[in-house]
Amino acid sequence: MKLLIATHNKGKKREFLEMLSSLFLNIEIQEYPRSFEVVEDAETFRGNALKKAREATKAFQCVTIVDDSGLEVQALDNAPGVFSARFAGEDATDEDNNKKLISSLRNEKNRKARYVAEVVLSVPIAEAEALNLSANAKRNALLEDEILFFCARGTCEGEIIETPKGEGGFGYDPYFYIPEWDKTMAEVSTQKKATISHRSKALEGIRTLLVD
Ligand code: IMP
Repeated sequence: MKLLIATHNKGKKREFLEMLSSLFLNIEIQEYPRSFEVVEDAETFRGNALKKAREATKAFQCVTIVDDSGLEVQALDNAPGVFSARFAGEDATDEDNNKKLISSLRNEKNRKARYVAEVVLSVPIAEAEALNLSANAKRNALLEDEILFFCARGTCEGEIIETPKGEGGFGYDPYFYIPEWDKTMAEVSTQKKATISHRSKALEGIRTLLVD
């Protein structure tokens, strides 16, 4: 089965690849050309994830996995939220976004934050057979234009620290501290991150919908 991981974000792609090997056997990864862009103009993670899934599945006609994700900071009224990738501006780098995050939280005592991921798996009806989907599983999906959309959300709680730690992960990970581990998300392996991450929890939700 061909599977498209519809993201240009290398960190997300790496995490998906690792997690998907336990969800599907025998997958061949469909190339996702750099030139293919979807405008993320919905107001919610789910709206953006569905939009990305819809456009990519129509263009490539294969099973597609995608997420829309971000950081919600309690003291910032849940900003940057859906704007996490462009918190510091349209072409902002992770470094720019992190700088803005830390300056927005200067002198703030409440450091609570959470990662949110809304994952969508879209399956063209013609491919549903290959996935062996039961009638029950199909009922768990939204059906639109001959495509089944399975949606699930995951969250991961943490705190924003002032000084970055760790070289792994991506995005806000060097500042995203997990108190129980006494480590940031950038200090742990991809496998360890996947034991509690928003993306892996959402993917687990998708798995539940598929095996129903
Ligand atoms: P989008 O889903 O492509 O709109 O962008 C998600 C943005 O949220 C990323 O560019 C990161 O800034 C942030 N983000 C989402 N998930 C993670 C994560 O696991 N670690 C760090 N940053 C994340």
